Amino acid sequence: MRRVDSRLAAGAPAPGPTGWCPFAEKRVSPNFWSGHAGHRIKAVVLHVAQGEKNAVINRLTNPKSDTSAHFIVAKDGGVTQFVSINDSSWANGLVYQNGQWMIPGSNRVLAGATWTGLIPDVNPNYYTLSIEHEGVYTDKWTPAMYNANLQLLQWIHDQTGLNYRLHDTLLAHSELNSANRKNCPGPNVEWDRMIQDLTQLPSLARTAIAAAASKFGIGLDEKAALTSFALANGLGIPLTEEFAFSYQGDRYIGQVWSLGVVYAKDGEFEHIFVSTG
Ligand SMILES: [Zn+2]
Repeated sequence: MRRVDSRLAAGAPAPGPTGWCPFAEKRVSPNFWSGHAGHRIKAVVLHVAQGEKNAVINRLTNPKSDTSAHFIVAKDGGVTQFVSINDSSWANGLVYQNGQWMIPGSNRVLAGATWTGLIPDVNPNYYTLSIEHEGVYTDKWTPAMYNANLQLLQWIHDQTGLNYRLHDTLLAHSELNSANRKNCPGPNVEWDRMIQDLTQLPSLARTAIAAAASKFGIGLDEKAALTSFALANGLGIPLTEEFAFSYQGDRYIGQVWSLGVVYAKDGEFEHIFVSTG
């Protein structure tokens, strides 16, 4: 069994580009779709597994179960990963028919999905990641579970550039499906504490990159679009501040990173480019 906190204290290995978390035990599930159908990850959804860890692992890796998740966090702080975060697990599925979201496997309309991030006609499994938590919905998370969940969310942030906001990019399953998942993950999850810790505690990887950037006199502003893109794409460390240049009459904003130059047309930061020389 691996414990997240002790491995991080010893210095976690650098996250690889594979989408598999270096401090999670890998138990591959066959229940996933390859890739995200061209979508960016919009949110991480937290669940309660309604069961003990090993039973849940058996269920989520069973090809006949038609269900999975990316991760489960156990009460002892152990993390198990079933599906690469570069692929789509099957935990948040809804169906969209005739202009409305329906409850899967039924013909009932889903009233009260409060998440505004749903994309009509696209299964949310394609643009969300899922973390299960061992236990039942009335449980209070153990401190080890709380810490492991936090470190896992930080790792996901490091990989995807996703910045966490409650009800927007960090959700309860009940916010997607309030009809038959209204108790997922349950009333005792400490959302406010979690979001405060996530925004105040940078991960070890980010701290190292910020320290390196400071050697070049550059501050690391993770909210800046170019920085967020470069970090999510593993482009090393920033070597310059942002600068402007022009091309065919258009103004661009660029920044040099150790593994490439990132740039976008000024004001069009939803389309960021990278040149690696
Ligand atoms: Zn759930």
